[in-house]
Amino acid sequence: MNDYINYIDFSSIKLGDIAYEIGDYKSADDNYFKALKRLRNYQGDRMQPIMMASELVEKIEKIKSKIGRGKSILKFDVWKLTKSSFVKGNQCLKYLYLNKHKKQEKTPISKEKQKKFDQGHFFEEKVRKEQFPNGINVKDKVGHFAYFNSYTSFLINSEGGKTIYEATIIEEDVLVMCDILIKEENGKIDIYEIKFNTEVNDAIIADLAIQYTICKKRFNSNLNSFNVILRTENENWKIENLTTELDKQINNVLLKISEYKAVLTKEEPIMMIGEHCNKPYECEFIDYCTNKC
Ligand code: SF4
Repeated sequence: MNDYINYIDFSSIKLGDIAYEIGDYKSADDNYFKALKRLRNYQGDRMQPIMMASELVEKIEKIKSKIGRGKSILKFDVWKLTKSSFVKGNQCLKYLYLNKHKKQEKTPISKEKQKKFDQGHFFEEKVRKEQFPNGINVKDKVGHFAYFNSYTSFLINSEGGKTIYEATIIEEDVLVMCDILIKEENGKIDIYEIKFNTEVNDAIIADLAIQYTICKKRFNSNLNSFNVILRTENENWKIENLTTELDKQINNVLLKISEYKAVLTKEEPIMMIGEHCNKPYECEFIDYCTNKC
């Protein structure tokens, strides 16, 4: 029986390891201790949890003398909107609201849709591997959403050029993740978003406008370019620099951010089913709204 798996706090161990690697010893200690506390509740006789607990004790011992010399780097962040929720708000305020407060009412994703997501993911991996190799993947490294922003800041603020996948930025209470962020030696930032589409359309511009606005807030004049990578017919890709076009959207996006944050604090908006339920994306709450209306 592998019942001991429930006693292993993989997330805290991973976070502890990354904190140790970057010299945030206090955070490493806190996370290892949290994981150890859960492991100590295990009453069985399997060797793996017992050995893991003893490894954690060793790690905690090793950190003890370093805590005073450590830097505070990893921080638990909170946010109110994400790029994805912002895009939902653009489509329908009720969609935005339900996505936050009634997630359980979502219609499960179809196999067809999942296949499309998988294709997009495969394309993304291909572009990264072939054009922007050896990047640091924030999501894989940290594993816990709330720490992505502070880890990204650490990477960007540390010396040297960097290629970062899933670079995560929070500004204005909005969290966005960038497919590829390149930080040059001179501190300039170039961002690339990968789309499975072959041409830029209004939905893509709206989607990138929120990302651009948040990145611009963070990097200001250091943001050198914001680009989209589009699929070409032979499974290759092309890059379009959308910086100038996206820059014109900032004021509008900032107004919408305030509006959407307010929507989330109020009652469920009243919206009737209509064409907007499938434009630009198929809403995940069509069943809920159909049955309620
Ligand atoms: S089904 Fe239509 S009305 Fe209902 S939340 Fe979705 S987009 Fe809005």
